[in-house]
Amino acid sequence: GMTLSSKITEAMERGSWVRKMFEDGKKLKDEYGVENVFDFSLGNPIVDPPAAFQAALKEVVDEPVAGKHGYIPNQGLPAARAKVAEYLSGRYAAEFALERIVMTVGAGGGLNVVFKSILDPGDEVVLLTPFFMEYISYVENHLGAPVMVPLADDFSLDLGAIEQALTAKTRAILINTPNNPTGTLLSQDDLDGLGRVLRAAEEKYGTSIYLVYDDPYGQLLYDAPLPDPFKAYGRTVFASSFSKDLGIAGERLGYLALDTNVEDGDLLTATFVFANRTLGFVNAPNLMQRVIAKLDTLEVELPEYRMRRDLMVEILREAGYDFVTPQGGFFIFPKSPIPDDVAFVAQVAKEHKLLLVPGTGFARPGYFRLSYSVPVEQIERSRELFKKVLEQYRL
Ligand code: PLP
Repeated sequence: GMTLSSKITEAMERGSWVRKMFEDGKKLKDEYGVENVFDFSLGNPIVDPPAAFQAALKEVVDEPVAGKHGYIPNQGLPAARAKVAEYLSGRYAAEFALERIVMTVGAGGGLNVVFKSILDPGDEVVLLTPFFMEYISYVENHLGAPVMVPLADDFSLDLGAIEQALTAKTRAILINTPNNPTGTLLSQDDLDGLGRVLRAAEEKYGTSIYLVYDDPYGQLLYDAPLPDPFKAYGRTVFASSFSKDLGIAGERLGYLALDTNVEDGDLLTATFVFANRTLGFVNAPNLMQRVIAKLDTLEVELPEYRMRRDLMVEILREAGYDFVTPQGGFFIFPKSPIPDDVAFVAQVAKEHKLLLVPGTGFARPGYFRLSYSVPVEQIERSRELFKKVLEQYRL
């Protein structure tokens, strides 16, 4: 008989696009050589950690601290949490304090901690398509029910559609901005409007609804002003990480933050800490927390991504692709030239050694995702290829 859970088997199917592209890509690279494959499918940060991070890491490694490699408090080291609170205070109008920060195993670990803490079986979490497919697992891991609502065509919020999707069982809405896969940013107006819709639903149903704000691309921001979710809505849970801004995705350090005025803040924080422990994370990486604590600032400049964004946008525009110009992160999400995005992506991989991810992998068919977190010379070399592909497929 079957030895695996049918739920996880389904989830593996659903989430298999990025991995499938990775495996196909590896085959192509082995066969034709890396330099002959145009791989725009990956989400790994291309910019190395800043010099200050490297220096702090060396110091931390050499430091004679007792228990350097031992367990630390489940909530995280106070010095690391203080650094995060200071960073958030500089960015948002709300007040932050180390008591309300929980260090986590990436934003991914943090989101699992949040859903473990707030969901009862069958509780609904609204997800906005297109979204990072892991979100479905993060909700279902804790017996929640994902409810999908499309973003508008320009990837702003469709407040009417969100309002209609909210029910007496809605426990949270999960939003991600700057967005994977679109690279677009929600405006303050959008967030304020969402706040109003959520407060009205709380009133209508007599419930509490959380705005879970997934921010790992928050510092990869090019020309739009940073929106403030804490201003828009009181019951905001902020999840972020250092994966993309410091370029340390493999080191697995992130955090959850509540502002000091949030209702039931102490209880909520204590529950996050308990969930962090009992989900088996125990504590977020000790050594990385010590490094963070040593940095003068957690703010980083990332001109490398802006430059790639500009170049990629120029190439796609010149070729005639239909897309919304990204304002952050390192992805673009153009319309697939043919309606079947899966077929399109499979064909360009085979015919042109061009690797993309189908929109279907983000619950939004009819598009493809392109990552420009790749070497600049690869982007430059792809100019003619993107033209040729569109000419070939344009209906
Ligand atoms: N959220 C989004 C939208 C992402 O794209 C990712 C990673 O790609 C994550 C969360 C998880 O990142 P991490 O756990 O490395 O912080």
